[in-house]
Amino acid sequence: MKRPVVDYDLCIGCGSCVEVCPEVFQVRDDEKAYVIGEDKCNTCDCEEAANICPVEAIKFEE
Ligand code: SF4
Repeated sequence: MKRPVVDYDLCIGCGSCVEVCPEVFQVRDDEKAYVIGEDKCNTCDCEEAANICPVEAIKFEE
């Protein structure tokens, strides 16, 4: 299963990934996106979240 991971050095906390995948990502007070439901990525399109991220901070691990 592919698991989404966020590169915190790149993330600017824009929230776009949360709009696409609210079950998977959450932006916290430090304005970084956290993966809160990595096993939920099969129910929504995390590829879309990765593609919409303006700084390409979302990667995938096997
Ligand atoms: S879309 Fe990218 S930059 Fe924006 S909050 Fe998500 S991971 Fe961070």
